[in-house]
Amino acid sequence: MPGLQHRNHKTPTRPGIYSERVMHELSICTSIVEAVAKSVAAYPGATVTKVSLRLGALSDIVEDSLRFCWELTTKDTPLESAELVVAAVPIVMRCDHCNADVTLESLQSFRCPLCHEPVNELLHGREMEIESIEIDDGKDEPAKKDA
Ligand SMILES: [Zn+2]
Repeated sequence: MPGLQHRNHKTPTRPGIYSERVMHELSICTSIVEAVAKSVAAYPGATVTKVSLRLGALSDIVEDSLRFCWELTTKDTPLESAELVVAAVPIVMRCDHCNADVTLESLQSFRCPLCHEPVNELLHGREMEIESIEIDDGKDEPAKKDA
């Protein structure tokens, strides 16, 4: 007879935070899955083998949560066995002072690494986009050339 699990862990003071957090990634995953499923609908029977995303450092998406939600949202879809590849997009800003596009190393300082003036024109870093989709249409037999 299995013993009762004694749950004595402390309830977090703000229990809503984690689930709200995951809900955010969950809705993003759902829209990715819908978009990909729509674009492979033209290939009946095809399975998606790989989905590549571009994820900006300022996109407000946690990759771990995204992967967790990916498992849930791709189940029983053509994406079920697809590999999720996430490419991190750095923060690139325009420095008016140097008239250059500069990559910020950290989120702590929004200053140009060259002249140390504040920068405020964001060029890259908020991306959350599907970069590419790879599918297996089930048709490409292993190349057997009996010619
Ligand atoms: Zn500068």
